[in-house]
Amino acid sequence: MPTAKRDSVASGGRLDAVVVGAGFAGMYLLHRLRRAGLSARVLEQGSGVGGTWFWNRYPGARCDVESMEYSFKFDEALQQEWVWSERYSEQPEILRYLNHVADRFDLRRDISFETRVAKAHFDDAKSRWTVTTERGDAYSAQYVVMATGCLSSTNTPKFPGLDSFAGRVFHTGKWPHEPVDFTGRRVGIIGTGSSAIQTIPIVAEQARHLTVFQRTPNFSVPAQNGPLDPKVQARIKARYGELRRLGSQMPFGFDVQFNEKSALDATPAERRAEFEQRWAHGGLPFLGCYSDLLYDKAANELAADFIREKIREIVKDPKVAALLTPDSVVGCKRLCSDTGYFETFNRSNVTLVDVRSAPIAEILPRGLRTERQSYEFDDLILATGFDAMTGTLLRIDIRGVGGATLGERWAEGPKTYLGLTTAGFPNLFMMTGPGSPSVLSNMVVSIEQHVEWIAECVANLRARGLERIEATPEAQAAWVEHVNEVADSTLYPRCNSWYLGSNVPGKPRVFMPYLGFPAYVEKCKQVVADGYQGFRLA
Ligand code: NAP
Repeated sequence: MPTAKRDSVASGGRLDAVVVGAGFAGMYLLHRLRRAGLSARVLEQGSGVGGTWFWNRYPGARCDVESMEYSFKFDEALQQEWVWSERYSEQPEILRYLNHVADRFDLRRDISFETRVAKAHFDDAKSRWTVTTERGDAYSAQYVVMATGCLSSTNTPKFPGLDSFAGRVFHTGKWPHEPVDFTGRRVGIIGTGSSAIQTIPIVAEQARHLTVFQRTPNFSVPAQNGPLDPKVQARIKARYGELRRLGSQMPFGFDVQFNEKSALDATPAERRAEFEQRWAHGGLPFLGCYSDLLYDKAANELAADFIREKIREIVKDPKVAALLTPDSVVGCKRLCSDTGYFETFNRSNVTLVDVRSAPIAEILPRGLRTERQSYEFDDLILATGFDAMTGTLLRIDIRGVGGATLGERWAEGPKTYLGLTTAGFPNLFMMTGPGSPSVLSNMVVSIEQHVEWIAECVANLRARGLERIEATPEAQAAWVEHVNEVADSTLYPRCNSWYLGSNVPGKPRVFMPYLGFPAYVEKCKQVVADGYQGFRLA
């Protein structure tokens, strides 16, 4: 059971490792570190395990990677025994799964819940970290691993008057634990990203009226979700290892079959057939329709036009359809995956408001005012996303060699070696950090790869009697350059997305994730084979 009591190993306790965060990453890492004989403690701000899946409880929250792939593969019995009920599982089911994992591997005894980390300071002379919680408990550890998640610090724009709102305010990324009923209520929702696109159809069914405030229309492909046929599940489990291996060899680290052809070489009839087949299959695999979709604007435009046509077919009011139609690049902001999103705008109790042409001026006690007019509602949902990838790391006072802060080092944007480490911060690892495939991959696959790399690295250091590992500034600079080069060869930097940090005012505009899971894995293996090339060991 979760516990908020002060920890016995705190205030002077010495550990081999402190892990911050008990989501998929922190949980598996704890298991692996323990197996390697290390003493480890996980510090988790929530009252339970689950990370993203603990906090994102908004109606309709579900994963956009299929459950059979969005789950751990490290334990054969676990992957054989767990039964998923849907192709894309809902948040409660994923959270049940993670609780099952915590029970199965007896993880909770080494996790301190309701424990927020305030500081992590490195002592150069002792080569140890002191991690201090907001309650003032201090842990001394040789290694610190930030398993804090890529989308864990919510972004709430500074709307004037937000505090004056008289009704209930929710953020999709920090949804209450108790059920929220919108029956008979007038609801306003700000945002039309993945979270909003999932929650809007469900809230619309409950609410008396739903007003959607949209700044940028988004591309979305129907998830084509449904119950997972037990026979299909059994067939997958019969060759699970092989299928997982094949998935991890694909660019995103899961089963997105990439058509090797260029969209520009296909005939109009071939293209239509391909797009229709991808649309019918559903979800993110749409991005694999042509090899140049994410690289060539003309190729991308063909796919964009197909989705725009679908929106016009689904949405009956041409003015609403036009407002919902994106004018950007498909996949540049993360492609959304929905169940009945565009259809929802045919309901008589749903209004779409364009806040691009007339931005939100202020929140009022009973609604909001745009630069054009006022709208009334009882409840406000902020589906305004996250300070992604760096937000949580930078909110913790992390100080490395010579007392330099991570905030100072990353003032112009995150700099890492392999997304796993950063120069000047010895023995500090990041799980799925900026510069790693992270959010451009199946997160669970990336997490397993990182956990195993870190566990092997630590075991290797211990076996050789070494105490310290640190990325060299040269290796880091070369890696940052490579990450940028790869991003610049794609269409990703061409729009305002959270991948670039452009959703948070003042955040440096740097493309953070690394595209290409298989190439990344090879690089990590090569670094080890070359004796931890790019690292200083001591
Ligand atoms: P998001 O994609 O960043 O969307 C935030 C929305 O809020 C955008 O529509 C944004 O408009 C709007 N917004 C922000 N500030 C605003 C302002 N000042 N005025 C008006 N509108 C404003 O966040 P998210 O929907 O929470 O999704 C984040 C990521 O989480 C996803 O991309 C995905 O990776 C993950 N996620 C995945 C799933 C899934 O697996 N299916 C579900 C939910 C989330 P602009 O676009 O104009 O900035």
